[in-house]
This record gives sequence, C-alpha cells and structure tokens, in this order.
Amino acid sequence: MSDVVKSTCPYCGVGCGLLVEADGSGNWSIRGDPEHPANLGRLCSKGTALGETLDAEGRLTQPMIHGQSADWDRSLDVVAQRFSEIIEAHGPDAVAFYVSGQLLTEDYYVANKLMKGFIGSANIDTNSRLCMASSVAGHKRAFGADTVPGCYEDFEEAELIVLTGSNTAWCHPVLYRRIVRAKEARPDLRVVVIDPRETATCDIADLHLPLRSGTDSTLFNGLLCRLQDQGRVDRTFVEAHTEGADEALQTARCYAPSTAVVAELCGLEQAAVETFYRWFVDTPKTVTLYSQGINQTSSGTDKVNAIINCHLLTGRIGKPGSGPFSITGQPNAMGGREVGALANQLACHMNLEDAAHRDLVGRFWQAPSLASRAGRKAVDLFRAIERGEIKALWVMATNPAVSLPDASQVRRALRQCEFLVVSDSSHNDTTGYANVLLPALAWGEKDGTVTNSERRISRQRSFLPGLEAARPDWWIVSQVARRLGHAGFDYASNHEIFTEYAALSGFENGGSRDFDISALEGLSARDYDELPSLQWPVTAQQRQGTPRMYSDGRFQTPTRRARFLPVTPRPPGGPLTERYPLVLNTGRTRDQWHTMTRTGKSPRLSGHDTEPFVELHPQDAVRFGIEAGELARVRSRWGEVVVRAKVLEQQLPGSLFIPMHWNDQFAACAGVGCLINPIVDPVSGQPEFKHTPVAIEPYRPLWHGFLLTRQAITVDWASYWSRARRDGLWHYELAGEQQAESWSELVRQRLTPNLADAQWAEMFDSAGGHYRGMHIVEDRLQHCLFIGPDHRLPKRDWLVQLFAREALTRQERQSLLAGSPGRGQEDAGRTICACFGVGENHIVKAIRERGLMTKEAIGEALQAGTNCGSCLSEISQLIIEQVAQE
Ligand code: SF4
Repeated sequence: MSDVVKSTCPYCGVGCGLLVEADGSGNWSIRGDPEHPANLGRLCSKGTALGETLDAEGRLTQPMIHGQSADWDRSLDVVAQRFSEIIEAHGPDAVAFYVSGQLLTEDYYVANKLMKGFIGSANIDTNSRLCMASSVAGHKRAFGADTVPGCYEDFEEAELIVLTGSNTAWCHPVLYRRIVRAKEARPDLRVVVIDPRETATCDIADLHLPLRSGTDSTLFNGLLCRLQDQGRVDRTFVEAHTEGADEALQTARCYAPSTAVVAELCGLEQAAVETFYRWFVDTPKTVTLYSQGINQTSSGTDKVNAIINCHLLTGRIGKPGSGPFSITGQPNAMGGREVGALANQLACHMNLEDAAHRDLVGRFWQAPSLASRAGRKAVDLFRAIERGEIKALWVMATNPAVSLPDASQVRRALRQCEFLVVSDSSHNDTTGYANVLLPALAWGEKDGTVTNSERRISRQRSFLPGLEAARPDWWIVSQVARRLGHAGFDYASNHEIFTEYAALSGFENGGSRDFDISALEGLSARDYDELPSLQWPVTAQQRQGTPRMYSDGRFQTPTRRARFLPVTPRPPGGPLTERYPLVLNTGRTRDQWHTMTRTGKSPRLSGHDTEPFVELHPQDAVRFGIEAGELARVRSRWGEVVVRAKVLEQQLPGSLFIPMHWNDQFAACAGVGCLINPIVDPVSGQPEFKHTPVAIEPYRPLWHGFLLTRQAITVDWASYWSRARRDGLWHYELAGEQQAESWSELVRQRLTPNLADAQWAEMFDSAGGHYRGMHIVEDRLQHCLFIGPDHRLPKRDWLVQLFAREALTRQERQSLLAGSPGRGQEDAGRTICACFGVGENHIVKAIRERGLMTKEAIGEALQAGTNCGSCLSEISQLIIEQVAQE
C-alpha cells in the first residue's frame, strides 16, 4: 500500500485535492494532488501550510460535564437525558442543532436525519446559512433545484469572466490561478471585477466597477434591458425552456431605464457601465462568478436571480464556457445543502414544504415523526434561544459566539440556554459556554466525503490516529440517537452512512431531482475508501459523473422550464445616519481562515497580517482624524471594536473593511460579528455582513507597545491587545489607558516570575514615556517589550528574526536596545510570500537595487510567488509603488 494519502483541503469551496505523506522527521508533507481535477496539483498559502496546523494545542481532549472530566458513556447519557426531558416537557421545537460546513457529509447526514426524521423538528441550521443561503434560494427559484450548472473548466473556456462580489484572488486562490493561467494563455479573455473595493482580484481585471454598496441588482437589471435592446435574446431557448421573461424585463426597465440612471444609482462612471454591457452583449461565452458580496446582503437572493436572469435571456447556461457560477466559502457547504442541513430543506435536495417529498423521506428512513414545517434559520434560532423558546442547543464544529451577526446577542443566548452541548475538535469562544463538551476528531483524523463548488464529491481521508478520546461526529450523533431510543442509527462506519445517503438520493427519483448519486449506493467499503472525485449526478447512465447541468434545457421546476424572477432593487437594511455615516464591509484576508482555530497556529500564515485592522480611504482618514497605523474604534448600533487603521486608496470613500477572523483568542476587542446588523434576506435568511452603518474615531490610549515572547501569556494589564504566532514565539501588540507603575517590575513579575535573578537589559526614558526591555538567556533572546507614548515604535519583523539566532552578537544586542537594525542587519519586513517566507523589504530591495521589474524576475531571484501565487498581486503592487517613487 502506498504511504501517500489522498485527501481534500479543509478550507475553502474550491476543494483542492492533497497528497499527504510522512516526511520522515515526525512531520507531514502536504502538497497538491496533480490528478485532482479541482486544483491539478496547485495549493494556496493556506493549503500549503496545513502541515503546521496539526498539533494538539488547543484540542478538546476529553468529554466534560459542567467543566468536570467525564467518560463518554456518562456524557452521552446526560445529553440524551436532557434532550429527552426538554422534548417531553416542551415539544420537539424546544431543541435545536447548529451545525457547520466543516462537518463531513456523513456527519451532516446523520445529524439532519436525527433532528428532522426522529426528533421531529426542523430546528437544524448550519453556519452555511451565513455564506451561501441566498445562492441556494436563488437557484431554487430559477431552476427548481439548488444546482450549480457549470464546472471549473468553464472558466478556462470562457471569453468573458465576470467576478462579482468575490475577492477570488484571496478567498478562492487556486480557482483564481486557473483564471490567471487561462488569461495568460488567451490574452483576449476579458475579466470584469464588480466590487466596491479594489481587491487583489483586480490585478487581472480589464475593467473594475467599484459600485456603491447594495446596487448590484440595478446593474444587472440594466444589463438585462441592454441585452434585449441589442437583440441578444436567445428566442429559441427563452421560448422553449423558460418562463417569466417579459415580467422580469418589464420590472428591470422600471428600475434601470437607461445606462445613465444605472451609472448614477450605482455610483459608477457611465462609460465603464457601457463597456461592461458591451462586452457582455458581445460575448456568448460568459461566466458570471459570484460569492459573498452578492449572498451576504439583505437582498442577496434577488441579486442572485438578477444575475441568473441575464444568463437565461441569452441562453448562456449549460454550455461550455458559460453560465452563472456561485462559489461557496466552506469546504463542505455544498455537502450540507445536499443532505438538507438547512432548516428549510429536507435530505437529498428534497423540500420540507412538499408533502410527497416528506412522505418519501419518511418511508425511506422509517421515521416516526418527520418534521412538517421549516425550522429556525441561524439568526432567528439564537433569538429564539434568548427568548427561552429553544431550551436545548447542540453546536457542532462551529463558533457562533464570534461568527454570527450581533454576536453580543448570540453570547447572551448561549449564556442563558438551559442546556448547551458543544462538540468540536478544539476550544473556541463558544466552548466556554457549554454544559457538555464532546471532543470530535479534527481534519487529518476524520474520514468521509465533501463536495466542492462545482458539485465534485471528494474523499477526505484520515492519516492521523486521532486524539485518544476524540470521536467522529457521526458516531457521537448516532450514540445520542440510540440513547434517545431511535432505530436506524446502528452505523458501524462512515461507509454505511454514505451508501444509505446515496440510496436515498435515488429513491423514487426517476429524474425528478437533480441530486442523484444512486450509482454509488452499492459501493463496497473498499470502493468507498478508494472513491475518486466525481461530480454529481452520478447515476446508472452517468457513472463517471456530470460536469455540466441543464445542457438539455430541462430544469426541475414543475413545468421543467427555468424561471425568470422580476427583481425590484431594495436598499441595504440599515440607512446611513449622522451618527453612523459609513458602510462597514467584512470579509476574509489572504492567509487566515474563519475564526483562526487552525490557521492561527501557523507562523507563516500569521506573518502576513499580525493584527486585526480596519481599511479606510485617505479622505475618510482626514475626515475622521485617523492617522495610518494608529488604533481606531469602530462603532455600530450593536457593538464596537478597536483595531489598527490601514489607510488605502483601494477602499471606496465612505466605506470601511474589517476582516472576519479575529476573536477572543487572538485579540481583546476585534470580533467584527458584534458590529454587524442582524437583518437578514427575507427569502434566504442570510444576514447582511456586507453593509452595516458604522462610525469611526481614533483610539488614543496613554501608551502603546509590543511584546515578543517565547511563551503565551495573559495581558490583563493592557486595555488593547492582539496576538499572532510567529516562528518560535508569540507577537503581542499592546496599548493601555493606565501606565504601569514600573515596567521593569511588571516584566519581571509577568514574564520571568520564577527567575529571581533574571537579567533584563533595559532602557528608560521617563520624560518621553519610552521603555525597552529584553531578557536574554545564554545569548538567546527570550522576551522583549517596547513601550512608547504613541504607535510609532520600532519595526517588529526584524526583531522577530533575532529570536531565531542561536547566539546574539554584541552588535545585535546594542541594536536591540537602540530599536533599529544595525549595519549589516537586515529587516525582511512584513511577510509577503508565506510559502517561502519572503518579506516586503527583500522584494523592495530586489526592485530597487537589482532592477527586477516583473513578478517573474522577482520569482526567479527570490522564489516569491512561485508556489501558490497568492502574493503575486502584492508583488505587482510593490513594483508599481517603487516605479512611482522613482
Ligand atoms: Fe484549500 Fe487554498 Fe485550495 Fe481553497 S484554494 S481548497 S484554501 S488549497
């Protein structure tokens, strides 16, 4: 047997295949699988660093009941007993599950089966509600099924790619690299980016439309009218395969009567809108990729349909190189959709509101009490908990205390929930609220299937033994189900679950449902272990899977016709006011994932952005008196955060951007969820993470500082702190409203409490408010603390490098106290290339001193950008900046 394990990346919805192998020194080598069709061997910075995230730090190591260790039997008994008591006393709708796109399909299937089929409530919702529920609802309205019509190869075949509401370069980097390569091979391939921010994705844009937040429907309504005006209606397709085109066009004309009006409403230059429309009109092979910028708004479903309308009108769907394409955020968001883990769906893409579907699933499961109506969607679910309507909650593999909007409300709900179970692999902000904590297997240990954005089912295989007490999620749920007295949960393996699920997908299907993997229902355990990746449907007729859907023009609506939806644009939920005059947008950074539970462990991923931040335009910086690099307080009606200010031309005036990743484990007050307006899309229930009215002001404490230390510590003496893992050390950024009486005493008490004779080299300037202290043991730097009256402190990256020295030279010690590198000492600067650890200063030096003026030349000289390519847009930006300075 080969020692190389084929698995799948646990991060984004691209779903890259991996080859995992022990490297002989106790570590794991993880590289892209050249045979996996999603990535063809490529990985981004996050996938490349997976090997650094496998340690046991932060893991849940044993079941706990009310903070006390317990064995599995007792813990499962308590969970079953409390759920049973609450159901008995208050009915099935008094309990709920909140699950996650991190679960494997088999886990998801069992959790959904227990709640909807046997407990008899549909109160199971997934954190995928936060990222793609609007796409699900839009697909179902247009196609009658939640089906992504195309595949990744369509990006290589397209002649125009429209990327809207998606920073593909950072959020789906490997798919972005496929587009870059396609454009390099065919320079005629045009790329349009529609996004209020000028993101890294604009690096390849032939046209960037920085539209006003929330105006996407107007832009696509205008496009729909233009397509008709220019005679681009595919009459044969529209007449034979669709319905509702006239109403959709009529409505579009009301709200987008001319390009001039569209440009005005969207805040765009008319010429730019004209160019976009002309290119779309003239290019039959067009793919429109959309993501969270479309989905995460209070009119996300309408926006999805406004996009799909344009593809239906032109018949650009189900054909190579054309189609609307929703890309998902999580590794198994699609799997969750397929098993029906959204509160308004049934298993295998069946509908809760459809009596025939309920009957079918009920008979297949032999379910005694199948849910008959939709359950609570994520935001509503946590409100119902706070009101006491839901009394028992089981959170699986997700961190709602940070990730949901109005996170303070969510924390109140978690605090007062009568009985809270959390099953997860690691501690996070939510686990602290649990009555019962259950340790689950982590990525690398668990085994099953996931589905990526192009409907491709891939195996996620285990290669680690798993912590002793940890169990697969499907096993934990099945054990509770059995204790609740339910039959149908005697699973001995994930393989048994998968084949049952495959059988249900084909049960009385006969082509009435797109999701059909019935050809896999007879898989042996061995076939399941060796299952190659396949795009559903996988049926007796299509055993090798189905790359592209709807090529025959037959959809899953009752008439088998796709539906146009008339779209009336609606403004975002919260109006701007004098008190909250700015729009807050949120999203991902290049190298972090969700709430950093895994990526926060990797020093090379943490070197890109070491601190939570807010991006704002220079005009807003002047308007609100904010200096680049200082701390800023951002407030909304729901809460506030304190983060570092980055002043950038790329940000649209009047809007701010804060990343979603930071939480209580990594910063004092940076969880952006506490700011977010909890308004949701009325159709999909998806919250509006892309538009919250906020205010910004400088935060100017008495002192600023940073600490580099080999040990993690509690910094309760600072009113602001954030921390990042660097190579062999922790990097803390600090600020405080009260001066320490003696910094010298404080460092000894907090950093070297057990070393009475610890030698600290120190420098004080009490008049200027400066302190510098460093602790060196046997010539190795252990800790250094820099304090000053403002944020202008010495560069950190150079000091981080000194921690790697086996023995500091005399000159290095002197420069440490001086706070700047001495002659011959290099400061690599902020990490730009995470794969090869290349810093900004090295790249700038190569540009200036060696005249390297292309990304390729820099790659050749420094390796930067030659692996995953995620940093290439930043390298380009550095070249542009240096040329401008020259
Ligand atoms: Fe993982 Fe990166 Fe591939 Fe996404 S693009 S699946 S994060 S390697």
